[in-house]
Amino acid sequence: MRLKVLGAYGASDAEHNLTGYLIDDWLAVDAGTLTSKLSLSQQSRIQAVYITHTHADHIRDLPHLIHNRFVQNVGPLTIYAAKEVMTLLTQNLFNGIIWPDFAALTSPFTGKPAVHYRAVAPGKKIMVGDVAMTAVAVEHQIPAYGVILEMNGQAITFTGDTGPTEEIWKRTNKTPNVVAVVTEASFPNDQQSLADDSAHLTPQTFGEELKQITVDAPIYASHRKIPFERDIESQIRNLRDRRARVLLEKNYTL
Ligand SMILES: [Zn+2]
Ligand SMILES: [Zn+2]
Repeated sequence: MRLKVLGAYGASDAEHNLTGYLIDDWLAVDAGTLTSKLSLSQQSRIQAVYITHTHADHIRDLPHLIHNRFVQNVGPLTIYAAKEVMTLLTQNLFNGIIWPDFAALTSPFTGKPAVHYRAVAPGKKIMVGDVAMTAVAVEHQIPAYGVILEMNGQAITFTGDTGPTEEIWKRTNKTPNVVAVVTEASFPNDQQSLADDSAHLTPQTFGEELKQITVDAPIYASHRKIPFERDIESQIRNLRDRRARVLLEKNYTL
């Protein structure tokens, strides 16, 4: 599979982008960075977006992606999220105040709504085209669900934001041919209490999580907070686990 990392940070400035991943040009995971790094035609090829949780750094570009679809003659976009997350999205974002509910509007260019919402049951595998998608709960300040995607004989796990967790590792360990795990290390080790209080990982706790992961694949740390990126990178290297990597904003072939 091809993984385009549009944003690999938990903060943004001119050179760092919020969480956003695109797989094989059509399936996105989180929407902190989508429209801001993709042309209109690239955006129109996205068929599905999975949202891990509703923190602003993971949904920033979602209203704009939906709007851009509304004014183009292209097929609808489907937003996937665990039930709890979908409820928060529709109540707090697509509520007609912060942004219109485009699922209830008909695009004049297609005669159909530009977006559909699909709330998924955690732990249950569903099919999105040829891709099997499983939402799995993680530990964060608000309802948050990582996702395991299986396609063409390969699998990839995205935890989204999480503190120390278990279920998604058990599930990942049981999944055949996992080619990558994308999790997080938001703060450096000397900010452990901040990481714990905000339900994030540091390289130290990332290292503890690695012990629960039995798959032999790269385990990427994403979502670094900008002021600490160099510290976090060197601390990940110092874990001396050959699977431990820092996620970069580039294209990966897995
Ligand atoms: Zn975040
Ligand atoms: Zn978050």
